[in-house]
Amino acid sequence: MSRVLLSGENQITNGYRSGVHNGVDVVKKWYQQDTIIAHTDGEVVQVQTGIPNAQGSTGTRSYGNYVKIKHKDGYYTLYAHLRTVYVKKGDLVSRGEKIGYMGDTGNAYGVHLHFEVRNPSDRRIDPTPYLDKDLPGEEQKYYYESYDNVKRKWLPKVAIDTTEYAGNFQNAMGGIYLDKYRIRVHDKTKGYWLPWVENRSDYAGNLGNEIDGVQIEGVVYRVHIKNGSWLAWVSKVDETNEGYAGIYGKTIDAIQIKYR
Ligand SMILES: [Zn+2]
Repeated sequence: MSRVLLSGENQITNGYRSGVHNGVDVVKKWYQQDTIIAHTDGEVVQVQTGIPNAQGSTGTRSYGNYVKIKHKDGYYTLYAHLRTVYVKKGDLVSRGEKIGYMGDTGNAYGVHLHFEVRNPSDRRIDPTPYLDKDLPGEEQKYYYESYDNVKRKWLPKVAIDTTEYAGNFQNAMGGIYLDKYRIRVHDKTKGYWLPWVENRSDYAGNLGNEIDGVQIEGVVYRVHIKNGSWLAWVSKVDETNEGYAGIYGKTIDAIQIKYR
């Protein structure tokens, strides 16, 4: 599961060789282009824009349009040759957040992402192992919890991206607490969407009222219908039927969340 491409796919087209090629080149599988996402939470510390394709260029210009992010514990990730950059220096970004689009700016022969990982001394290390896992010392755990309307209590918290889920089949869910990500729920009893929740001390829902829709930004999520089954995973938030999890009028009794 790629941590740097939105699709979750990546195909290595040019590997890391210390001193020769200090990063790894990736495309989406079958050489397709993709949106670039932040590997891990961090602060954007460098951005370069306005560079065209410049084959044979050296130094910083050879990276083309790029984004460099500083992470907790001092590690950095760098994303080069972008066609478009969506962030600016000083921005705080979250894991999975869109930061740009793949391109061929700078010293690039064909569209791809050149991805680097740098240690706290800013030395480039082999990024290959980190294409699909946490940086050293960076393991992040975020949790979610659901409120059981029948038991009238919050159920034990569950880590995002595990095989576990929050909820009790058969017992209507009345609220969802989620670390970090924006969430809102559709109140089945009232028949409308409740406000977005982004304050981490708050939860989504009216405890005691049933929920029949969920929207969460930045992750992939699915819900289980009471007396039914799991619905399809949802990876976006919009007004279409694919832009939320749930079926209006049908009670949700469980939710599962994973990273994209
Ligand atoms: Zn490269």
